[in-house]
Amino acid sequence: MGNTNNNSTVTDNVEAKAEPLDFIREIVANDLGSGKHASVVTRFPPEPNGYLHIGHAKSICLNFGIALENGGGVSHLRFDDTNPAKEDVEYVDAIKEDVQWLGFDWGKNIFFASDYFEKLYGFAVELIQSGKAFVCELTLDEIAAHRGTPTKPGTNSPYRDRSPGENLELFQRMRDGEFSDGTRVLRGKIDMASPNLHMRDPVLYRIRKTPHHRTGNKWCLYPMYDFTHCLSDSIEGITHSLCTLEFEVHRPLYDWVLENVAAGSHPRQIEFARLSLTYTVLSKRKLLTLVEEGRVAGWDDPRLPTISGLRRRGYTPESIRAFCKTIGMTKFNSLTDVALLEHSIRQDLNDITLRRMAVLRPLKVVITNFDEGKIEELEAANHPKNPEAGTRKVPFTREIYVERDDFMEEPPRKFFRLGPGREVRLRFAYFITCNEVIKNTAGEVTELHCTHDPETHGGNAPDGRKVKGTIHWVSASHAFEAPVRLYDRLFTAEDPSKEADGKTYLDHLNAESLEVIADAKLEPGLAKAEPGERFQFERLGYFCADTADSQPGAPVFNRTVTLRDAWAKRQKQG
Ligand code: ATP
Ligand code: MG
Repeated sequence: MGNTNNNSTVTDNVEAKAEPLDFIREIVANDLGSGKHASVVTRFPPEPNGYLHIGHAKSICLNFGIALENGGGVSHLRFDDTNPAKEDVEYVDAIKEDVQWLGFDWGKNIFFASDYFEKLYGFAVELIQSGKAFVCELTLDEIAAHRGTPTKPGTNSPYRDRSPGENLELFQRMRDGEFSDGTRVLRGKIDMASPNLHMRDPVLYRIRKTPHHRTGNKWCLYPMYDFTHCLSDSIEGITHSLCTLEFEVHRPLYDWVLENVAAGSHPRQIEFARLSLTYTVLSKRKLLTLVEEGRVAGWDDPRLPTISGLRRRGYTPESIRAFCKTIGMTKFNSLTDVALLEHSIRQDLNDITLRRMAVLRPLKVVITNFDEGKIEELEAANHPKNPEAGTRKVPFTREIYVERDDFMEEPPRKFFRLGPGREVRLRFAYFITCNEVIKNTAGEVTELHCTHDPETHGGNAPDGRKVKGTIHWVSASHAFEAPVRLYDRLFTAEDPSKEADGKTYLDHLNAESLEVIADAKLEPGLAKAEPGERFQFERLGYFCADTADSQPGAPVFNRTVTLRDAWAKRQKQG
């Protein structure tokens, strides 16, 4: 990382012109350009009370991205762990894994707000000493009732005018554990008539006699988010504190705290729109409910928008970063089409995955003019556009499987696959013609009898005759059977969080979000797929060997995404 921002090269300028900076990057560039800051320091501040999701990825890409783009910049990973009741080391570990997997490195800069508890306590004492904070004995309900409304000013707490000396003593006794939960809080003494409700003597500290995942029983007094966050930013020398729009109304409080204690620096808070996705929920509380109620199989269920779920589903870090780049940064909340996320993984996997053949819903085809017992090893390209990906051998035999969907007894005009009397190409193999349809007593098709044209070896006719359809297949005697999981959207409503007609997101769960095919017929080489390995199964989509349930020699496959946007098509058809 040789380039500093002041020393930009020609290529940097060209790049800057090609891609306009978003409003946050523009502010950062100006602050570096004007010399306000010598280098940029950002932070990603998760609360360890759940797993990270795709919305967090937006924030991670922004914070770490800005540091990387500005030579010498750094981004901190800071756990905002001020609520002992909801936080857990399991979450801390998962968050670290996810940030690293996304491709970002915090280096030495990993911090915990809980490491600042002593310092924060000192800042609170400072506020008390200068008459800007007081110990209040109203209950939380009473405080809420005193707060007023946006149009009606609040009323002062009867404890507001306690002397600094009395407040200091009470605050120390709160720390010493003399009072029980909920009986006293520390409040900022600001303005009960402020039009901004967050400025009406906000609660800064509360008593919680709950052990903390890092500080154990050392503290029973915990700082609130609004007090902790700005001071943690300042302690770490953060230059730009980037957060989502709902914190815009908290910004005056962020600034008030920093202006009223002897903090080293005053970072600038800048807000951006949070990511919301169609057919998805991105609230940790809702995700936790889905997990706890067993609606999904854990935080890394491949149907969830969590980073770990997406990873298990087969998403690549590159595709998630590309998605975050595409959506950009704005100042207004909107709903992003989940198809955009699916598009970014297709783009990535199209280039990087090797092609394989798999039959999910098998229909047996007997090639009546192919010798019984004969095995022909056919050459199959691993990637249609990349010769460097090489080829593999696939066995061809008298009995094969094709997809049930690839046959219709009475095909409509635009159906170019198998039908009585029709000729199609078997990928990498031969042209075959369907001569006979075998049915069971219930009238269901159980088998097709076809003949192949030996002259079309490899899938091309020397006489130049064309077939309109090419279908995939797997040798029946060589097929490797494995479970394949097909995923659909977890919710049927476009905006499941929107509550209407007494329905909540839980009423919009898609009952068909998971389909397990117990024994799909796969080409034999797939038996050796390693957990996490990704493929395109020709014509079916991109698949990934599951990292949790695959065993050596017995992979289980997850469909990451279909090849085309089947959902949009289905919706259009109505
Ligand atoms: P909750 O779901 O309970 O509101 P949270 O999503 O805000 O929690 P945090 O752990 O506090 O969870 O988030 C860490 C950071 O990620 C914050 O800076 C937050 O603004 C950002 N973030 C969270 N959700 C999104 C989202 N959907 N889009 C963009 N950034 C997000
Ligand atoms: Mg939050």
